[in-house]
Amino acid sequence: MSVQDILVQKGQHIEFIGPDVKIAQAILHLASKRIGALLVMDDARRILGILSERDIIRALVAGSHALDDHVRDHMTSVVVTCPLNTSVAEVMDMMTRGRFRHIPVVNDDELVGVISIGDVVKHRLAEMESEKSAIIAYIAAG
Ligand code: AMP
Repeated sequence: MSVQDILVQKGQHIEFIGPDVKIAQAILHLASKRIGALLVMDDARRILGILSERDIIRALVAGSHALDDHVRDHMTSVVVTCPLNTSVAEVMDMMTRGRFRHIPVVNDDELVGVISIGDVVKHRLAEMESEKSAIIAYIAAG
């Protein structure tokens, strides 16, 4: 199973924000979409960074002016991405090692989606459920 299988079910919609938007606006965006991270992109849809709720928490702890800061002040600029054929197991490993819960997916240098840890867990649970059904059917047939 690859991230492509997850994107087929989930779709390729990407929530993103510009680097010069204020943190207060980014919080509203995250809350309204009920998500934990936004890709930061320029007008040419190039990835400039990623801003997650953790970055915002850190910014708020660092100073009371954080809501007026810009996204570029608190985003992570070096973003780890994965190709479309990455296995779900590899993505889980990347998230665990990198200590993040979001990975943009690229295909031929084009951004085609974002996988979150929630997507991975949902997918893995469905896989385990179908493995369980297959084992039960196998035992019942014996
Ligand atoms: P998360 O667990 O995804 O909310 O993010 C935890 C931290 O990792 C935050 O500082 C994010 O900006 C950063 N982060 C999230 N996703 C990535 C990624 N794919 N590559 C690099 N850093 C990331």
